[in-house]
Amino acid sequence: MRKPQKQEADCIFCKIIRGELQCSKIYEDKEFLAFLDIHPINPGHTLIAPKIHCQNLFDFPRAEETDLMEFIKKVADAVVKATKADGFNLGLNNGKAAGQVVMHAHFHIIPRYSNDGLHHWPKKDCTKEELAEMQKKITGFL
Ligand code: 5GP
Ligand code: ZN
Repeated sequence: MRKPQKQEADCIFCKIIRGELQCSKIYEDKEFLAFLDIHPINPGHTLIAPKIHCQNLFDFPRAEETDLMEFIKKVADAVVKATKADGFNLGLNNGKAAGQVVMHAHFHIIPRYSNDGLHHWPKKDCTKEELAEMQKKITGFL
């Protein structure tokens, strides 16, 4: 593995990337590592982390060579074929409130089955006015 440029001594994923902690590696290139989650939501649950330490999506490194979406698609395709999944969720928990536990940003690829019993997020109703108000608020920051 290439020596990552920026690492955190105590970060569990940096330790995995440095090879100090074991992982079940699925795929890697110079900039990203894909490995199995030790507590899978479904078997084959795979994590994709940048080799440079970053806490969340906002300080996620701009890939120098990797086409990240192609990397994710390549790994997801292998995961789906290997697990015979009907689909998969691609996720990133950004911040503690969103369920982030390991503070080294990473994507989750979670194999899904039509009958796996896992819930989908409940949705709220909202009015056209509420949508318009929210659109105005968000676009005000762009
Ligand atoms: P988060 O909640 O931060 O988005 O996801 C962290 C994920 O990392 C969890 O799904 C958890 O099971 C997984 N995880 C935590 N520690 C380790 C580890 O040492 N090795 C591996 N392979 N996965 C880990
Ligand atoms: Zn790290």
